[in-house]
Amino acid sequence: MNPVPPNWRTAPAVGRRFARARRPAPAPTPLDLAMMRRALALARDAGRAGEVPVAALVYETDTGRVLAEAANTRRHGRDPLGHAEALAISAAAKALGDWRLNSCTLVVTLEPCPMCAGAIVNARLGRVVYAADDPKAGAVRSLYHLLEDQRLNHRVTPIPGVLAGEASAMLTDFFRSRRSGA
Ligand SMILES: [Zn+2]
Repeated sequence: MNPVPPNWRTAPAVGRRFARARRPAPAPTPLDLAMMRRALALARDAGRAGEVPVAALVYETDTGRVLAEAANTRRHGRDPLGHAEALAISAAAKALGDWRLNSCTLVVTLEPCPMCAGAIVNARLGRVVYAADDPKAGAVRSLYHLLEDQRLNHRVTPIPGVLAGEASAMLTDFFRSRRSGA
């Protein structure tokens, strides 16, 4: 049983469409859940600062040590590459002293885009846990399946939908308040 997380952009239709295509995903560990709560708190802070509320962190899967955490900085940093996952991956590799992150788990509050999914593959990440699906840009299951593409030299089994309701609600509130000028 794999509940379809509510979606922050086009809720029910997309959920139904992808529910059929989904294979059973591995269950998140208690540590994954704790890390996602931490990422959601970071995302909330980013939203209050006017960034799209998305945040990510990288932790060592066996020890639970957090190597890096980051929120979106695209707007304030004026950087199209300023996505939370990309920033966290880069900082984690520096902290570890190795570009290979096989021993690590990336936790992010929104399904990674093609750029970040590419970074995940290139960093050889061991695991990827994410919250809300992104039907407009998601490259893990929504539009592409980059993490599981057999043609690439590294594959990661995603663990999607972890605390997705909370992440979706945060994004929905953010865009709603921006539209209303609040
Ligand atoms: Zn991205």
